[in-house]
Amino acid sequence: MKNVKCLKCIKCGKEYEALPDATTCECGGILDVIYDYDYIKENFTPDDISSSDNYTMWRYRPFLPVEEDTVQPPLRVGWSPLYEEPRMAEKLGIRKFWLKDDGLNPTASLKDRASSMGVAKAIEAGYDTIACSSTGNAASSLAGNAAAAGLKTYIFVPERAPIGKVAQLLIFGAKVISVKGNYEETFELSKAAIDEYGWYNRNAAINCYLMEGKKTVALEIAEQLGWKVPDYVALSTGDGCTIAGVWKGFKDLYNAGFTDKLPKLISVQSVNTCPINRAVHTGEPWEPMEENTLADSISVGVPRNADKAINAIIESGGIPVEVTDDEILEAMRVTGRECGVFGEPAGVTGMAGLTKLCKEGKIPADASVVAIVTGNGLKDTANGIKAAGEPIKLEPDIEKFRAVYDELNK
Ligand SMILES: *Cc1c(COP(=O)(O)O)cnc(C)c1O
Ligand SMILES: [Zn+2]
Repeated sequence: MKNVKCLKCIKCGKEYEALPDATTCECGGILDVIYDYDYIKENFTPDDISSSDNYTMWRYRPFLPVEEDTVQPPLRVGWSPLYEEPRMAEKLGIRKFWLKDDGLNPTASLKDRASSMGVAKAIEAGYDTIACSSTGNAASSLAGNAAAAGLKTYIFVPERAPIGKVAQLLIFGAKVISVKGNYEETFELSKAAIDEYGWYNRNAAINCYLMEGKKTVALEIAEQLGWKVPDYVALSTGDGCTIAGVWKGFKDLYNAGFTDKLPKLISVQSVNTCPINRAVHTGEPWEPMEENTLADSISVGVPRNADKAINAIIESGGIPVEVTDDEILEAMRVTGRECGVFGEPAGVTGMAGLTKLCKEGKIPADASVVAIVTGNGLKDTANGIKAAGEPIKLEPDIEKFRAVYDELNK
């Protein structure tokens, strides 16, 4: 890999050769992929990328840690739409607002970006089986992307995972272990099984390449804005890999001279489960919290990428903000009604946090903001109904309908 120098521990700084099945540092720290930005600068320009007809996340190969002959996995991941939303901007009281709908990925979440990378690296490393633990989306996404590439999967999910996500796993032919325990216990079991059976590890806290897949959402936002960077990017935070990836993506572009600015990151968590945000607020090391929000994808009490996430929020001069379950349900309704985009609870939590900050006057009126919808609402229809309410139930009788119509239009 000419564009990659090495892998470097974020804790002790030790450097490693970038092997495709590298895991964590011997000190336990998470590794980070270190690029040769001079090489990238000398060999690629923004125009090279803009003129690519590969409309997937793999159009950003100059910024991805793969060999030249690494095969792009089959599912079409990335290049999700970035919708400009002037009515929403007005409602929020900001100058410009865009919604990045990553629920439109093949298995309907941003996790597909990490899974596509994981599958590519597993094949590069010569594995035929890949495993992970997940609150739901990493699992369903791995199962789908691996199925398309002909790899076997073992998946560990906590038993609370919504049925839509479990259905995806089973349809994609994964061996699904529904763990009678919380996410932390699920993660530990998967780790023990992976160590014992020697599968390729798609856990974002252990496999540093996955974040490199996730960062492509930031590369896309910049390219879709004409290689411009918004003032703020709002998104939900669980394990912390996504927000760390978003930061890495914007920094990559900046370091390679593709853009001239960095955004501030708005990290949104639940008031009940916010170990990463709490650490940023207090300046203390993060501590475990209970898992207690209906936004299952970010119900993470023991975040596995906390250090990278906390760095990202602080380095960007970002804002940590916490929201209630009711505010998340409200964001589901508003995003659906104003933008025609149906997000799962964690999918619109970024939007919920942005709304709260705007109401509190914490975002300047001349700001430009992107909110990322990280997962599709069809994965969790029970919470969709909870947010939006039941339909009007009626006998097949026009008289009765007229009464309802008059009521609705009073
Ligand atoms: C995984 C996930 C997140 C959070 O990403 P982390 O890397 O765990 O912080 C947010 N929204 C959705 C829909 C997710 O699936
Ligand atoms: Zn180390």
